[in-house]
Formats: sequence, C-alpha cells, structure tokens
Amino acid sequence: MFESNIPAPAGEAAIRYDVLIVGAGHAGTQAAIALRQRDYAGSIALLGDEPELPYERPPLSKDYLAGDKPFERILIRPESFYAARDITLLPGRRVVAVDPAGHRVTLADGGTVGYGTLVWATGGQPRRLSCSGHALAGVHGVRTRADVDRMMAELPAVRRVVVVGGGYIGLEAAAVLTKLGKPVVVLEAEDRVLARVAGAPLSAFYAAEHRARGVDLRLGVTVACLEEADGAVTGVRLADGEVLPCEMVIVGIGIVPAVEPLLAAGAAGGDGVTVDDHCRTTLPDVFAIGDCAGHANPFAGGAAIRLESVQNANDQATIVAKGLTGAAEPYHAVPWFWSNQYDLKLQTVGLSTGHDLAVLRGDPDTRSFSVVYLRDGRVIALDCVNSVKDYVQGRALVVAGAEIAPALLADAAVPLKALIPVG
Ligand SMILES: Cc1cc2nc3c(=O)[nH]c(=O)nc-3n(C[C@H](O)[C@H](O)[C@H](O)COP(=O)(O)OP(=O)(O)OC[C@H]3O[C@@H](n4cnc5c(N)ncnc54)[C@H](O)[C@@H]3O)c2cc1C
Repeated sequence: MFESNIPAPAGEAAIRYDVLIVGAGHAGTQAAIALRQRDYAGSIALLGDEPELPYERPPLSKDYLAGDKPFERILIRPESFYAARDITLLPGRRVVAVDPAGHRVTLADGGTVGYGTLVWATGGQPRRLSCSGHALAGVHGVRTRADVDRMMAELPAVRRVVVVGGGYIGLEAAAVLTKLGKPVVVLEAEDRVLARVAGAPLSAFYAAEHRARGVDLRLGVTVACLEEADGAVTGVRLADGEVLPCEMVIVGIGIVPAVEPLLAAGAAGGDGVTVDDHCRTTLPDVFAIGDCAGHANPFAGGAAIRLESVQNANDQATIVAKGLTGAAEPYHAVPWFWSNQYDLKLQTVGLSTGHDLAVLRGDPDTRSFSVVYLRDGRVIALDCVNSVKDYVQGRALVVAGAEIAPALLADAAVPLKALIPVG
C-alpha cells in the first residue's frame, strides 16, 4: 500500500495530509476522486489557488464564454461529493515553496502544510505577449473562470476583438465571439492555424471555416505592440505598422507550466517538471500530473513532451492513484482531445507531431471528414471533424501503429474498422 508516509515531527502542530494535492484543476481533482474510488483510506487534501470548487476548463472557451452554460453546470463534482468522501478542499491557497526533506509546503500567507505524498497538479499560466501593452486593461488570457468572467463583463462595451494565436483556444474564442456578433481578427504568426497540433489539410479547413463566418484571419503576422488610452487597450500594432483598432485582445499563445516551487526545490525539469512513466518526479514522494508534467510519451516516439488535455490530466491522475493503492502501472494512455468551433466537433486521437504523410479521408466540403497521419507507413493519429465513427474506429489503428496503404485510408467508403489488423 502506501509506504511513504512520514509522521509529523514531534511537537509540531502543522496540518498534515497523507496525500496533499496541489492544484485543484482536472488532474488534481481526478487524483482525489480516483484515490477514493480505489478505497484509499488515508487523509486527502485538494489545495488550489482559485476560490471556486473544481470546475471543467474546456467550456471556458466554448459554452461558458457563449453564456450557454452557467458555472454550476461546469463543476467537476458538487461540493457534497467531496464531503461525502472525506476529501478536504483547501481553495484560495497558493503554494510558494516545497521542502522535500521536511515533506511540507509553504503557502503564500506563510502557513505550512505537511504531506506524506505530494501530488503536483498546477497546470500553467497563459503565456503573455512580450511586447509593450501586454498588461493593459482589456487584454485577456483564457485559463480560469475569473479570466472569462472578466471578459464577459467587458463584452457589452466591446466593438472589435483581436485574438492573438490561431491555436485551439484562440479559434474557439473567435468562434464564440463571432457568434455573439463581434467582429474578430485572428492573428497567427505561423503560415497556418493549428500549426503546432495538426496537419495542413485540417489547418486549411479551419481557416476557410473561420473566414466564411466573417473572421478576419491574418497568417504570418506578428504583433509589435499594443496601443492604449488611459491604461486600456485601443489597438494592436502589427510588425508592418498596421494598427488594428479594438477594445479587447485575447491572447492564446500557450501556457507557462506552474512549476517554479518544485524546480526551486530541486526537481528536474525545464518546460514543466520531469516525471517518469509512473508520474514520479525526481523528488522523494512527489508526483506531478497534467499540463505541468513533462513525460516521455510512447505516442510521441518516446520524446519528452507535456500534453495539455483533459485525457492526459485524468489518466495521469489515475496512474498516481493506482500507484498509491498497490496497483502501480506505467502511463501508456492513448492521447485524445476535442475542440468545438461553430457546429464543428473535432476529435483527435494519437499525436500527429512528426507525421510524414497526412491522408485526407472524405470531403471537407461535406463538413464531415478525417485526416489520418502516418509516420514511416504507420498510422500515428487521426483528426476527425464531425466524424465520430472514424474517431472511434481509428483509435485501434493508432494503438496498433497499423501499416495501411494510404489509398485504403483515403477511401471513406471503407470503414476504418475493416482495416484494423487482426491478431
Ligand atoms: C479555455 C480552455 C479550453 C480547453 N479546451 C480543451 C478541450 O476542448 N479538450 C481538452 O482535452 N482540453 C482542453 N483544455 C485543456 C485542459 O483544460 C487542460 O489540459 C486541463 O485543465 C489540465 O488540467 P491540470 O489539472 O493539469 O491543470 P488545470 O486544470 O489548469 O489546474 C491547475 C490548477 O492549479 C492551480 N495552481 C497553479 N499553481 C498553483 C500553486 N502554486 N498553488 C496552488 N494552486 C496552484 C491553478 O490555478 C489551477 O486551478 C482547455 C484548456 C483551456 C484553458
């Protein structure tokens, strides 16, 4: 079972939990849930710096921003759930230092909390623009409920929006704001949207969709600075001197993993904290999971990556819970992800990074198609747009690393399940 509990030092009254989870987002919350599901009997605290009950982050750039889902409906679990399972919630607290030898963390208010096992699940902060004006009023990242509530409060007075970054979050926000009737410009530094995560056919499709809805999508452009009046943003100046007037800027250019306290305590890492295939950091009794955890992923050919997805957060949390309840197993979960833009539901399985061939399956004009990615002749990933069948059936091809002739994959009349290798 759980072997790493150290007793609180004699005479010390500090609060101590057998498992202290820092970060009450998807990964941290799932770790607490999975531990209790697996009958873990020790004390568990879920500590996080946000004031709310743990909630789902994906709706922040989708239904929640659109005003279609109230906050109560995006809670991961109701408050009663945690009480019934003896999971102590410690919201509104920020860890600023970790003492691995003393098995305790220090909070921003100077208090300390001891632990037997520490599960670090802190995600990351939105990366800010580095140019002048990045902190003006009206400039927003999209990471927390507070971020989106601020945006929503400002929206009635906003006439034009500029979104910096043509990744999933930027495009989702652009889709919602366009539907809300706001003129939106999207700025992307690369020569296509979704360049970091998807192949060229998918990028072209989404670019066309956004443009057809009236989004002014600019590719290959960089921001020089943000213009202001009285401390509020009034426009975005591009490197070529053009100024795009706006009252709101949404910055979706990735995250910076929140790992400073762990790295300062000596944990290995860089872009995130390094974990092994059991989500162990290099510090004793300290695990890291979710967006902040850099791990060698078998679906990335063993390369060290961080995955920013609910799947990864939940599955790594389960790996830790299994490890702490005597059923250790390595992390080999198949990556999957989704994105909703307009009436388009994108589902991806596997990791397309490093593909050497992208096969189009179906006709994008029908608004239901897939892109199958191969490397060295083997299927490594699929992006499926309004194509649940391909997503479900394609998963087995990714898991098997199936070698299939591109012409067969391209034939949408052949169901993918018919191509799954036998044996
Ligand atoms: C707008 C948006 C849309 C998304 N859409 C999708 C989607 O469609 N599909 C998908 O699969 N994924 C999506 N994601 C990604 C997904 O939400 C993340 O991968 C997931 O939330 C990661 O979980 P996590 O627990 O690692 O981090 P988080 O959920 O970010 O939780 C980390 C928590 O730790 C807190 N914290 C940080 N530092 C400290 C500290 N020092 N002390 C205490 N607390 C701290 C943070 O404030 C936060 O509450 C989206 C993300 C965003 C922001």
